[in-house]
Amino acid sequence: MDNAIPFLAEPHDHQRCIDTALDGAAALCARRGVKLTALRRRVLELIWGSHQPTGAYAILDALRAEHRKAAPPTVYRALEFLHAHGLVHRIESLNAYIGCVQPDHPHAGQFLICQDCGATVELQDEEIISAVGRSASRLGFRALRQTVEITGLCPDCRKNDEAC
Ligand SMILES: [Zn+2]
Ligand SMILES: [Zn+2]
Ligand SMILES: [Zn+2]
Repeated sequence: MDNAIPFLAEPHDHQRCIDTALDGAAALCARRGVKLTALRRRVLELIWGSHQPTGAYAILDALRAEHRKAAPPTVYRALEFLHAHGLVHRIESLNAYIGCVQPDHPHAGQFLICQDCGATVELQDEEIISAVGRSASRLGFRALRQTVEITGLCPDCRKNDEAC
């Protein structure tokens, strides 16, 4: 999953990220016997347009610019589908969506979010997940869903920051 880490992958071929994600989504939907309709596919493609989280309204605007019949419920239903199948994650703090690099198995990810450029990278660190689970269970709490969003500066923005 080297394409998952734009922070480390200097200039990378982003088209490859998009192609891999769309091919993977098509294969996953075929295996699950669900339909990746043209609209769902296009919404996923728009989300994968960058490594910055994309909001529902930006998606709606893009679809309208393409003269597609797109009302907010259409977009929300497509997002719901993509989310239910693990193809996208919702970044709660930004109310926006980011493509998942490993949609095949359900997982709790942790997200590193650059506060300057918005670049977001998903980590899947089992130690963080089990540490949170352990601490919660010490208090008698059973963790069901973990949302870990870490805000900071990506390598590029750090360079700019330090140059000032
Ligand atoms: Zn990329
Ligand atoms: Zn993921
Ligand atoms: Zn940045």
